[in-house]
Amino acid sequence: MTDLMLRDEEGRLAAVNRLDVLDVLPEEPFENIVNLVRTILGVPMATVTLVDRDRQWFMAHRGLPSQQTPRAISFCTHTIQQREPLIVPDARLDPRFADSPLVTGAPNIRSYAGVPLRTPDGYNVGALCAIDTQPRTFSASEVAILVNLANIVSDELELRLIAKRDHLTSALTRRGFMEQAEKEFANYNRHGRPGSLIMLDVDHFKAVNDNHGHAAGDQVLREIAELCSTVMRPSDSFGRIGGEEFALLLPEVGPAEAFAAAERFRATIEGHTFDIGDGLSLRATVSLGVATLGPSVTSVDAWLANADAWLYRAKRSGRNRCCPTSVEELADVG
Ligand code: GH3
Ligand code: MG
Ligand code: MG
Repeated sequence: MTDLMLRDEEGRLAAVNRLDVLDVLPEEPFENIVNLVRTILGVPMATVTLVDRDRQWFMAHRGLPSQQTPRAISFCTHTIQQREPLIVPDARLDPRFADSPLVTGAPNIRSYAGVPLRTPDGYNVGALCAIDTQPRTFSASEVAILVNLANIVSDELELRLIAKRDHLTSALTRRGFMEQAEKEFANYNRHGRPGSLIMLDVDHFKAVNDNHGHAAGDQVLREIAELCSTVMRPSDSFGRIGGEEFALLLPEVGPAEAFAAAERFRATIEGHTFDIGDGLSLRATVSLGVATLGPSVTSVDAWLANADAWLYRAKRSGRNRCCPTSVEELADVG
C-alpha cells in the first residue's frame, strides 16, 4: 500500500496544498531546524524542502542562493520517491546527479543526505536535507539525528495548520486570516493587484443563544461557515475573526465583483434553514461590509477598519444587507 502511495503524485500534491505552506515567509521552527542540521552535522547547507509539481521550494534554507529551483534538477524529487533517507556520498559519481547544474555549478553540491517529510496520511511532501560541497559519508547516528529532526518538521507542519484553523468552524483563525490579508496587501503594493475584503457579522446572534441555547448557536456558526465555504472560490480565504464575525478575502477581485459576491453570501444565508436538532430549525441573516484595495487603504489594519465601518453601517441601516449598498459607492471609496 505504501508503495502505491509513493506513485500517487496527484494525492501527494493535494497533501502539499493542504499544508498551505508554499511561498510563506520564513517561520521560526523551521529556521531553527536548518540551523541545527548545519551545526550538528557540520554541513554548509541545510534545507527544509517542499516538492511542488514543477519546483522544489525551500521553506527554510541555509547556504543556498535561491528560494527554489526547478524540480527536474533537484535531489529531493528522488528522496520523495522512497521511505528511507536518500544518501549521496559523492554526487559526481552518481549518474542521477552528476550532470545536475546544482552539482556542476553553484552551489556545487557534492554530497547530500535527505529524509522524506511524511504527512500523517502517508504522503512524502518534501525532505529535510543536509548538503555539503565536499564528498562525505553520513554516519548512522548522523542519519538518525536527521530522521528525528525530519519528524519534528513533519509535526510542526501539522501544528501550524491546527493553529491556523478554528476548531468550531474550520475557518482560518484571526491570525491565519491576517497573514493571508498581509500577503494580499503586499501583492497590491508591489504589483498593483486588486483585492477585496468582506466582513460578515451574524444578526441578532445573541438571541439565537438566548432562545435556543449555546449548542444551537454553535450549530448556526458551523453552518454559516459551511455555506460561505461552498459559495466562495478556491482562491478566496475565509476566517473567523471574532465570536460570530467572519471575513472573506477575495484576491484579484475589484469593486463590482466583490459587491456581487457579498450579495451572494448574504442571499445564500438568508435563504438557508438551519437545522438545530430535535426537529427544530431556524433562520438567520448576516450583515456585510465590503472594502476593496485602493489608494486610501494604507495598511491591512486600515483595510479591515474600512470593511468594519461599512459593516457597522449595514447594521445601523437595518441589518441583512451589504454596505456600501452599490458598486458605485464602493468604487468611490476605493
Ligand atoms: P448584532 O446584530 O448587532 O450583531 O447583534 P448580536 O446579538 O449578533 O451581537 P452581540 O455582539 O450582542 O452578540 C454576539 C453573541 O455571540 C454574544 C456571544 O455570546 C455569542 N457568541 C460568540 N461566540 C460564540 C460561539 O462560539 N458560540 C456561540 N454559541 N455563541 C457565541
Ligand atoms: Mg452579531
Ligand atoms: Mg459581532
